[in-house]
Amino acid sequence: MKPATFEYHRPATVEEATALLAEHSHDAELMAGNQSLGIIMANRLATPEHLVDINDLDELSYIDVDDDTVAIGALTRHRDLAGDPALAEALPMFTEAAEQIAGPTVRNLGTIGGSIAEADPAGNYPTVLAALDADLHITSSEGERTVSARDYFIAYMFTDLAEDELITGVSVSREPFPPERTGMAFLEQKPATQTWPTISAGTSVRVDDPEADEPVVEDARVALANASDVPLRVEAAEEAVEGEPLTDETLDAAAEAAMAEARPQGEFHADEEYKLELAGEYTRRSLQASYTNATTDDTDTHQ
Ligand SMILES: Cc1cc2nc3c(=O)[nH]c(=O)nc-3n(C[C@H](O)[C@H](O)[C@H](O)COP(=O)(O)OP(=O)(O)OC[C@H]3O[C@@H](n4cnc5c(N)ncnc54)[C@H](O)[C@@H]3O)c2cc1C
Repeated sequence: MKPATFEYHRPATVEEATALLAEHSHDAELMAGNQSLGIIMANRLATPEHLVDINDLDELSYIDVDDDTVAIGALTRHRDLAGDPALAEALPMFTEAAEQIAGPTVRNLGTIGGSIAEADPAGNYPTVLAALDADLHITSSEGERTVSARDYFIAYMFTDLAEDELITGVSVSREPFPPERTGMAFLEQKPATQTWPTISAGTSVRVDDPEADEPVVEDARVALANASDVPLRVEAAEEAVEGEPLTDETLDAAAEAAMAEARPQGEFHADEEYKLELAGEYTRRSLQASYTNATTDDTDTHQ
């Protein structure tokens, strides 16, 4: 099938794009990498009368890493996130999540803004944003606003984004994640390469002293993809490993907490029970990998 007919717009600025959205808000779709929208429109699950192609908005394509903040523009492609050394040093969960998305075509074209707008609970970035307490920056012809990732994802593929709004970017405070004492990991279980994960876990572990015999976990972050109808932050798993060195016992407690909070939908290749087990197991593996990364000197050991 082919998409229904639509009027094509290619704004040169964010202001032009938001003006078009304001004018046609009920009948318009933004197009970024077109990796999801193209499929939906080809199957006529979306039949917008106006397509607003934002690929000329170069101002939305950036990765800025300074001492305090990491800021990423909405039009930044998965490929560019995966290959950014400064981002890999500051917040490696982002680069690991980006490099595991689908295959090269999707990574070359797909954008972080499109992924956040789509808000698939299996999506990689929504999980990273939840784990890192990111802020989302949103604009419209009415002005700009910021919303936390925690408040943005509301229900299954339903978000705080209004029809006339455009995501301009995301930002993460670096203060909780000093690279010399922090390890991160993003681990996925996939039924096949180049497809969506059954479960993924994004975790971060900050220790008190990486040189100590038994470094104590000061701060942990645990978020799961495809384990609920929204990206799932599992605070009980974080609390289970905080305040002492990571051990089999604390990892067991974290895995149990993840299984207790996960509410996965059964799928053709993975029923609910199996996905619950994966939620526990990937919480365990990802926390262990993060701890290892936090307590070893080699920045190339991210697992
Ligand atoms: C085979 C396949 C496998 C995939 N596997 C994974 C995976 O493992 N993990 C994963 O995370 N993703 C996966 N994806 C999804 C992929 O990451 C998409 O690129 C992404 O979800 C959408 O990004 P896009 O730039 O292509 O957006 P588009 O398809 O252009 O747009 C998607 C939606 O977002 C809206 N939108 C786009 N940009 C903005 C913006 N700046 N502000 C507001 N709304 C906007 C559009 O209007 C549209 O409704 C997969 C996709 C495919 C086709």
